[in-house]
Amino acid sequence: MAKKLEGKVAIVTGASKGIGASIARFLANEGASVVVNYASSKEDAEKVVAEIIRSGGKAVAIQANVSNPLDIQTLFSKAKQTFGKLDILVNNAGIYENIPVENITTEHFHKIFDLNVLGLLLATKEALKYFESSGSIVNISSIVSTLAPANASVYSASKAAVDAITKSLAKELGPRKIRINSINPGLVETEGTQSKGYMQHREHVEESTPLKRIGQPDDIAPAAVFLASDESDWITGET
Ligand code: NAP
Repeated sequence: MAKKLEGKVAIVTGASKGIGASIARFLANEGASVVVNYASSKEDAEKVVAEIIRSGGKAVAIQANVSNPLDIQTLFSKAKQTFGKLDILVNNAGIYENIPVENITTEHFHKIFDLNVLGLLLATKEALKYFESSGSIVNISSIVSTLAPANASVYSASKAAVDAITKSLAKELGPRKIRINSINPGLVETEGTQSKGYMQHREHVEESTPLKRIGQPDDIAPAAVFLASDESDWITGET
């Protein structure tokens, strides 16, 4: 059977771990050449690349801090040098932190917004320089954009901004055959949610969900493949 992404080139930001790593593996498994972006976890990113190559796929690890506009430009130009073009951007790199309003600082706000919102916007802007006749952008937003739990005002606001950006850019870029959709996961077991103590809420979350379990990164990745592929050719601006 033909692979869904044969001949396509994808950049996945924040793909050394968690949801991004799974998306990178799934895209490669469908035939895409994948840029596995990371900020600091070089070894983890190289492990993802090695796994993809072992399975017969194509991938390269490229370091870039997506909060840094110059790094973003370097990421895209290195991707083009390596694979010659770009068809898919997965804006996955993001950070989350629970913090009560009394503890919010300017630094905290910028840490979250400079990556989750500005980084996503600047990566999208950069992708436009490289897309040829069409392109697909998949934003990894979050259920918190609408659920807005306590102690997560800044993170929830950053993901609500991602949803608004997705809808606005879908209208702006649709005439250029560039689609942009978002995936808004609930709680997913990743290195990030483990190290930040989110797993202590596991039972409570599981109790409140119909399937009585939290997500795994591989639960998210198939949706990213679908939204990146031509199977979703008439879908844009959706969450
Ligand atoms: P994670 O396990 O913490 O992994 C984060 C990834 O992002 C790592 O590869 C990390 O690379 C990279 N990253 C962090 N800062 C970066 C930066 N400035 N520039 C480039 N890459 C950077 O995260 P995750 O739980 O998989 O979450 C991934 C995305 O899904 C985020 O946007 C998050 O908001 C969203 N999300 C997660 C959940 C969940 O429950 N896990 C639910 C809804 C939405 P380094 O290790 O090299 O820093």
